[in-house]
Amino acid sequence: MKPMTLCSSLLAVAGLSFAATAQAADAPNLSNSEFQQCLNTLKNSAQFRGISDSTFERYRPSAPDPSVIQSLNYQPEFQKDVWDYLSSLVDKERVEDGIRAKQQWSGVLRQINSRYGVKPEHILGVWGVESNFGQTLGKKPLFESLATLSCFDRRQSYFRGEFANALKIVQNGDINASDMTGSWAGAFGQTQFMPSTFLELAVDFDGDGRRDLVNSVPDALASTANFLAKRGYKSGEPWGYEVKLPSGYWAASNRKDKKSMSHWRDQGLTLANGSPLPYDLSSAGLLLPAGKDGPAFLVGKNFDTFYSYNASESYALAIAHLSDLITREDSSKTDFITAWPTDDPGISRQESKDIQQALLNAGYDIGAVDGIIGDNTRNAIKDYQSSHGIFPADGRAGKKFYNQIVGQNKPVASTTNDRIGQLIQQQSPKANATQSYPSTTYPSRSQITQPAAKVGNVRYRREAGADGVVRLVRVDEGQ
Ligand code: CA
Repeated sequence: MKPMTLCSSLLAVAGLSFAATAQAADAPNLSNSEFQQCLNTLKNSAQFRGISDSTFERYRPSAPDPSVIQSLNYQPEFQKDVWDYLSSLVDKERVEDGIRAKQQWSGVLRQINSRYGVKPEHILGVWGVESNFGQTLGKKPLFESLATLSCFDRRQSYFRGEFANALKIVQNGDINASDMTGSWAGAFGQTQFMPSTFLELAVDFDGDGRRDLVNSVPDALASTANFLAKRGYKSGEPWGYEVKLPSGYWAASNRKDKKSMSHWRDQGLTLANGSPLPYDLSSAGLLLPAGKDGPAFLVGKNFDTFYSYNASESYALAIAHLSDLITREDSSKTDFITAWPTDDPGISRQESKDIQQALLNAGYDIGAVDGIIGDNTRNAIKDYQSSHGIFPADGRAGKKFYNQIVGQNKPVASTTNDRIGQLIQQQSPKANATQSYPSTTYPSRSQITQPAAKVGNVRYRREAGADGVVRLVRVDEGQ
């Protein structure tokens, strides 16, 4: 089985939630002759005993891929808050995709449920978070990535095992070599299994004799169910609940310290809506992802099985929350009942794309509009904030910055410390017009006219273009 702590950091960096590309350090120069020598040694080592010479040579990479070493050593420059993490993983779009997937695969999900005892929405939650319901599988050639990681830098012994396992999968005929692409760390397919997890837990559910987690949705969903079942899933139990703590109550967040539901009732906890706690969890631990002032949860054994998929509590909570919203078939409200302790909440992937488009239009070269806020986008935001007098210039893509740069049909000033918004509203009453602003088009940065608000030494105006789109524009000296 894969070492979970390692994979958690690998998959988290490689996956949906964090920057997909590494910019902190340059890609290293890797010697190809050293690489080929290393592969020669590997081929004859004990770890590769089950791999035939012809299999090894057939998929032997002709050169290493330095970008995976760069990713291995990537240190995110910006720490993500839990609400930012969740708002992109559990947004309206993903809930709607999940509801559609549930309808489309209802027959298969029923069969999987009767064989493995896993609730369909829990499987859908994992599928949605892992690969966006099969839409995002990762494009890195697996043999190249794993062979490079087997021969350079840290963790070589772990990656050698995974490289051998990846070759085994192709040699067994489960997956076509051309389908062996995935994250830089080697997770692949609709369930984003590492090769060792695949060999241990993947199942053939559509009965064609192959465990194809890339092309077969029934195989992928059943393999997820098998994973959860083997990790201790309790059939019929919910993952847990959002709860409300009695006033003045304080206990540390400790998911693992499981207590009976009567214990929690005695402590005065209720469901978040105030109803009494149900008794359908055999035991539960308290999870406070943002401390006592944020949303609180009682989580049971099934939450822990989500956690075992990728050792991160925020990750498990994303699966849990997404599965609840798919169960309710309601995408209208993706927040928890208790708000996160912030006046600047996170944004959806669509809102991230809108910000990226606005930055492009403002002349920032941030690459593709992909809804993933990586270092390029964050650095552009930071620069935009500094040059527009927005405080703090922290590079974060949150709701306030979204309102500032995209200028949706909401007043810019949403809170008392939004200085620019207030100033601009005072000077530009039209900013409150109730017309609807398309979010995909923006005026160019050259459309600068009067009047302007002054923040520090920099002047701004809020500009509504002919298309009804509003944004902040810096008024340069002399204009
Ligand atoms: Ca199959």
